[in-house]
Amino acid sequence: MAYCDECEERFLLPANHVVGVHNLESGVIAVELTCYEGHHIMVLSGNDIDITGPATV
Ligand SMILES: [Zn+2]
Repeated sequence: MAYCDECEERFLLPANHVVGVHNLESGVIAVELTCYEGHHIMVLSGNDIDITGPATV
């Protein structure tokens, strides 16, 4: 589930909307996506992260 700031909507995006995956420190993974309108979204994921809202990087 990803939240787009510009659309102000949550999307369940298919894997082909993933444009990049970045491994950050402490096992955090930043997944870069585009929403259906083509806006870029960054979602943080990882063992210690619970995604509850828009992610900012
Ligand atoms: Zn959007």
